[in-house]
Amino acid sequence: MITQSTAREPVPLEADGPPFYLPVGNEVEVFEAAWRRGLPLMLKGPTGCGKTRLVEHMASRLGRPLFTVSCHEDMTASDLLGRFLLSGGDTTWVDGPLTQAARVGGICYLDEVVEARPDAVVAIHSLADHRRELNLERLGGTTIQAAPGFQLVVSYNPGYQSVLKDMKPSTRQRMVAVELGFPTADREREILERETDLRGRPADELIRLGQAVRRLDHPGLREVASTRTLVAAALLVTEGLSFTDAATAAVAGPLSDDPELRNGLIAMIRAFD
Ligand code: ADP
Repeated sequence: MITQSTAREPVPLEADGPPFYLPVGNEVEVFEAAWRRGLPLMLKGPTGCGKTRLVEHMASRLGRPLFTVSCHEDMTASDLLGRFLLSGGDTTWVDGPLTQAARVGGICYLDEVVEARPDAVVAIHSLADHRRELNLERLGGTTIQAAPGFQLVVSYNPGYQSVLKDMKPSTRQRMVAVELGFPTADREREILERETDLRGRPADELIRLGQAVRRLDHPGLREVASTRTLVAAALLVTEGLSFTDAATAAVAGPLSDDPELRNGLIAMIRAFD
């Protein structure tokens, strides 16, 4: 017997309001306007700049359940749409996160979408344009009309991905783009305080360290010190680690394995201690 399992319970809303997100520009307004009009959104920005937090904040603020997918190169269209699974002696259709979001009018967030295989990306086309529908060929060609409130949000890091893996123009043209960068020093300081309770000189020095690392131009440095790494360093300081130990573990370590570059970063960290 073939049965159909539809959407899971939507993710409950936060009891204490949306997760904290401090805007760096007009992204909250653009997000909300796009959501009201059912336009898919493309968030561009470096790793650790707050893309995921923005989506979590907006889903909660707009009162929509959030379905997050971390895309990877082995991900297929079935991982997004759903598949038949054997349970007992029966074959049961289980919706994928994209299908679930379309059914319940949720927000489907595809993190690092350029990592996904092209066939998986093609699966989002009909949901991303004016049709707002999903065709489940494997489920006998069932067509699902996206419920009101559904929105597709994708993110990627334009600096990090190879040109070959860049998104196809046909996919990009279906979306509204928001470019996110790292916050200004004042705002990043506020984020650090809100996220970790770290105040005073160590917080100031972490912000200055982050800015200094971002100014570095070294071929071995594929990423810079993100807000995420500064938050992690601040958390380690609040746990009693020295500034140097915390920043070495949370900033220098993750950025590079190259011993020379790493030593250079540690010397820089010591100068701020
Ligand atoms: P991304 O998805 O861009 O890789 P995240 O959204 O996971 O980055 O952000 C990493 C962490 O940095 C968050 O968990 C949060 O602590 C902090 N953060 C970054 N930007 C912001 C922001 N604008 N407001 C609040 N927190 C932020």
